[in-house]
Amino acid sequence: MVRTNDAAWRFQQVIESCPDAFVEIDGNCLITEWNGEAERLFGWRRSELLGRSVFGIIGEQATDVVEQGVSVFRAMAEAENVSLAEMMRIFPNLAIDVRHKDGRMLLTSGMVFATRIDADFRLGGYFRIATPGDGPSPEVLDRDRLHDQLTGLPNRALFMRRLGVAIDDLGGSTGSVAVVVIDLDRFKAINDALGHDVGDDVLVTVASRLRLAGGGVRPMLCRLGGDEFLAMFEHPAAQAGDLADAFAEVALESIEEPIDVGESEIFLTASAGIASTDRRDCDASQLLSNADAAMHEAKGLGGKGKRLFGDAMRALVVERMTTEHSLHRALDRRELTLFYQPVVDISASATIGVEALIRWQHPEQGLVAPDRFIPVAEESGLIIPIGAWVLEEACSQLRNWRSHGDSDDSGMMEVNLSARQIDHPGIVTTVEDILKGTGLPPENLTLEITESALMRDAIAALGVLRALKSIGVSLAIDDFGTGYSSLSYLQRFPLDILKVDKSFVDELGNEQGSEIVAAVINLAHALGLRVVAEGVETEAQLDVLRHLGCDYAQGYLFSRPVPATELAGKFSLGA
Ligand code: C2E
Ligand code: MG
Ligand code: MG
Repeated sequence: MVRTNDAAWRFQQVIESCPDAFVEIDGNCLITEWNGEAERLFGWRRSELLGRSVFGIIGEQATDVVEQGVSVFRAMAEAENVSLAEMMRIFPNLAIDVRHKDGRMLLTSGMVFATRIDADFRLGGYFRIATPGDGPSPEVLDRDRLHDQLTGLPNRALFMRRLGVAIDDLGGSTGSVAVVVIDLDRFKAINDALGHDVGDDVLVTVASRLRLAGGGVRPMLCRLGGDEFLAMFEHPAAQAGDLADAFAEVALESIEEPIDVGESEIFLTASAGIASTDRRDCDASQLLSNADAAMHEAKGLGGKGKRLFGDAMRALVVERMTTEHSLHRALDRRELTLFYQPVVDISASATIGVEALIRWQHPEQGLVAPDRFIPVAEESGLIIPIGAWVLEEACSQLRNWRSHGDSDDSGMMEVNLSARQIDHPGIVTTVEDILKGTGLPPENLTLEITESALMRDAIAALGVLRALKSIGVSLAIDDFGTGYSSLSYLQRFPLDILKVDKSFVDELGNEQGSEIVAAVINLAHALGLRVVAEGVETEAQLDVLRHLGCDYAQGYLFSRPVPATELAGKFSLGA
């Protein structure tokens, strides 16, 4: 310390004799003082930090507090007639998390003060480790509520609040606001294969890379939950979208850098969607869902890339919204109906059951296939009431056939369940209630769940399947071959039937194709499952399937899906 003048020298002594860590920053948030206690507490040498940005050593939430504090202070310092005492009133006692040199985050509580020479001000503070006895300050509580525990990033609530403010600020000006949604590709596989601790480490690493990806521009970041992150950009002119685009580019590249976990490295990719607006009447959640739609488009193109929300996507969103809107009314107006397609026992040539397939009798568009509205129903949650209706309708139909002698006791009804339905906590009770209500014995109902829906969250699915199984219904894995099954799960799921996807049946004409189907049939039989071949259209396919020992078949060769009235009397269900 050089003794330049008495006042400065005394100031230094005050700082050094202070039992707490003393830190001071200037109006650019660069560190100007760092005393001996700060060196001891946080592990950083004074010489390492003087002149460095304070943002390098504090947590994300503290960053927000300091940024806001400094900008308010700057405005007040520029207004000459505001006294220091008045300026200090805006600062409560602070809770700031500081990154120790060894990487630990230390939560400190502190008192702040300011010094000013004309418009040049400095903010200083005395900090000590917050002790549990202090009790959490209101700032800490607020921080916990508004930040993600794992990464320290703002959470959805805080992000939406700020996004709302940013959009409101657009009024009358020429500014713009942009949002980036980033979603890691196949993150679930990492969690499943390496465990949640590794998954957590990966998320923390990704968060810290995102913090650096803005370059000179610091976006507001957020962890939306799971493996989804958000960034928001504001710009006084129209360039928020460009900033967001440049950020997404750097962010995706930085995520692709290998991530060290223990001895090995993980390689990740991510997908990003970007949406921007210059309109004050834009809704924050609409902007977010536009960016989300763009991100999903990037995923649909194979991931590892970014997409901008543009006119084409806007048209798609409008179409989806229209579909959702009319789908809402379709249930009430009884526009939904079920078609049934026979499932045939190959060796006995008998129809053992039917699969219920939904159709929408749209007032203007005519008969609409499920592929065009089931995804919308799933996304909007409408699949829950629609799915319950399907179950009820299908079960009473079979009950009806049984009472008219169109089905014997073994005739089976197969109903499709979507992922969203098996996630729903009420699913087991719904199935039980419907069976009770319609009087259909559980052994006459098979529930089909696609392979991809099952493997999406295999552990959760396992619990639901076991609960459904305990009611006495049969379970089928649908569209087998289109997802990525883990053999160990396939073995653990209490399944009865495996349905080989039509795409494999289509390849039965060539040698390799039939070898694959043979392997699937053998695997299924080894696991004690019976096999249905889906989409059988020709006698030649049926011959190969018979030869390979496939149990059942379903397809246009036997019948297209038809209304119940067309089936009555035509088939007698049952073995
Ligand atoms: P899925 O469960 O795999 O149903 C088989 C699909 O293949 C049906 O299409 C059926 O019409 C079609 N198909 C059957 N045999 C042949 C054939 O020989 N050739 C060709 N080209 N196609 C054949 P659909 O009815 O359009 O249903 C499509 C998908 O929609 C279903 O696939 C199922 O995943 C879903 N779905 C249908 N109804 C429901 C429902 O009530 N709830 C849920 N969650 N999903 C449903
Ligand atoms: Mg099916
Ligand atoms: Mg299928």
